[in-house]
Amino acid sequence: MNITVAGSGYVGLVTGVCLAELGHRVICSDIQEEKIAMLQSGRSPIYEPGLEDLLEKNLQCGNLHFTTNPQYAYEDAEIIFIAVGTPEQQDGTANLTYVCEVAHSIAHFMKHDVIICTKSTVPVGTNDQIAEIIQRQKPVNLHAEVVANPEFLREGSAVVDFFYGDRIVIGTNCSKAATTIEQIYLPLGIPIIKTDIKSAEMIKYAANAFLATKISFINEIATICEKVGANIDEVTKGIGKDERIGPYFLQAGIGYGGSCFPKDTKALVQLAGNMQHSFDLLQAVIEVNTRQASLPVVKAKELIGSLKGKKVALLGLSFKPNTDDVREAASLVIVKELLKEGAIITAYDPIAIPNAQHVLGNTIEYTQDIRLALLHADVAIIATEWEEIKQLSLDSYELYMKNPIVIDGRNCYSLKEIRKHPMTYISIGRPIVI
Ligand code: NAD
Repeated sequence: MNITVAGSGYVGLVTGVCLAELGHRVICSDIQEEKIAMLQSGRSPIYEPGLEDLLEKNLQCGNLHFTTNPQYAYEDAEIIFIAVGTPEQQDGTANLTYVCEVAHSIAHFMKHDVIICTKSTVPVGTNDQIAEIIQRQKPVNLHAEVVANPEFLREGSAVVDFFYGDRIVIGTNCSKAATTIEQIYLPLGIPIIKTDIKSAEMIKYAANAFLATKISFINEIATICEKVGANIDEVTKGIGKDERIGPYFLQAGIGYGGSCFPKDTKALVQLAGNMQHSFDLLQAVIEVNTRQASLPVVKAKELIGSLKGKKVALLGLSFKPNTDDVREAASLVIVKELLKEGAIITAYDPIAIPNAQHVLGNTIEYTQDIRLALLHADVAIIATEWEEIKQLSLDSYELYMKNPIVIDGRNCYSLKEIRKHPMTYISIGRPIVI
């Protein structure tokens, strides 16, 4: 089919490239000239394992095209996926400007009947809004059907998630549109849930809110473990065996980040508030998460006192491993608080340094060599559980640092291994090793 994907970011690019791999003729559009030029030359502007190979392959075989021209993008499309950003606004609500711009543009340029699938995460009611915009402005003889098709891919494993996801949600009351979209996904063999538009929109928010709740819940338990002398590893092992609870998403640490959980939880609180319901539980989840990111600095101060002039090795900048995305990363909060304390920071990350530099500029030093970050450091703070950090020989802390003091925000190491080395090690929800 002729498919256009509006927005060539983490979701749009992965979707477009993978749909091309399934044999469709795909146009990925974006408003950023630089991004599109890079993609046209076969290079991916984002780091996502496996993406660049598929990108090159499908560009070469002619299935995949990139453009900044909305007319070219929309006039021949049979299906248009909207995958533009819906960033958080100051009051926590989702900014729908980009989604609405795409809707206006589709209405203006469409030359055939079209199905519009919204992959962007949007508050309940937005797809009806999109349908209204298009209905008002499209040529009278043409039909546009809007379908909610929320996206569940995870950065860092987005390509694998496209092909092997847990479920696909198709929200529409139009059975013809549902069948057409179902046909696109059928080759993947992933369970498909067909539902109404509003339920589909809500599924996405409920899923992210639930996952965020699991994280903040286990982090609260970790805090109590520290106070009573229990070990969160033992506790998660013990509760995770209960099938009603399960072992997933129970990793204690310095909280969730990224472009989704923080904004989607806030948007759901706002959405509930608009309906005169105070979503107190989710509000608490957000508050716990905000507190978690500051923990490493609190713990460092408790241990060594003033951080003024102290050299800190910050290990990891991305919000999680295997991505270059630093949006809402705990590392950014840690940097801000360390700078406030007068610390001198050298940050290590294997791939997220360019994105971090956009946000942090020259306020800190950067290196892709962990040993350089550790060299003469007074304290090391682990903010991202990169495999490179987990695999680092524990001798390195003693070898390179002024004092081998490690504050591990992601519980990367087993306490048993740590105890074999002369170091001070503070993690989350586990006994301190001195
Ligand atoms: P992103 O910021 O990486 O990409 C959005 C892209 O849309 C940008 O490249 C931007 O230039 C482009 N854009 C803006 N206006 C445009 C227009 N009028 N026409 C064409 N392109 C335009 O965002 P993302 O992380 O891919 O997220 C997109 C949506 O998917 C959001 O609603 C997000 O909540 C949701 N989502 C994201 C993830 C994730 O892990 N990143 C997962 C599931 C859902």
